[in-house]
Amino acid sequence: MAVCSSSARCHAPHGNGGRGAGEPGIQEEKKCAMNRHEKYMKIALDQARQALVLGDFPVGCVFEYRDEIVATGRRFNSFGRVNEMDHAEMVALRALFDSDRRLDIGEITVYSTMEPCLMCFATLLVNGVRKIVYSYEDAMGGGTNLPLRMLSPLYRDLEVEITGAILREQGLALFKEFFANPENNYLADSLLAAYTLKQ
Ligand SMILES: [Zn+2]
Repeated sequence: MAVCSSSARCHAPHGNGGRGAGEPGIQEEKKCAMNRHEKYMKIALDQARQALVLGDFPVGCVFEYRDEIVATGRRFNSFGRVNEMDHAEMVALRALFDSDRRLDIGEITVYSTMEPCLMCFATLLVNGVRKIVYSYEDAMGGGTNLPLRMLSPLYRDLEVEITGAILREQGLALFKEFFANPENNYLADSLLAAYTLKQ
């Protein structure tokens, strides 16, 4: 009987392992992966909630490596003297490098409450990340649809795994709360604000 390989902590039996997409083994593996995604996305949502409480744009990020959290980050500086470098993913990446952990970045899964922007997506790729999971799509500035195949050799052959809409309703709720608060000026009256508030 095969055991789920998608999480070190998941020991759900998978029948005979399954050979077709509709067979029980494959179904169980998908379920395990989904459970793992939700487990880490909840922690990213906690980070986002902290940002929201402090008046920042509610993006939170978690780096998972072999079923362990190795870095977290949340959005900073989205009000006052705004800068567009302190995105949650960049903050988490810096935290990882500051920790001096030596690990295979290709094994890390990045969980973000919002689809990474072009800057964060590119920075994660250049640093070796190949697995990205997000909650709420960024209909205005999402960068994960970048056509890698049309780029230079360093990028065009990358195999990148992107999973969206994990706990999407919870992610959406935080952005709705942010945009509904008139005290928050960041991206107010933007396409993203309109897209979010009409849902
Ligand atoms: Zn970003």
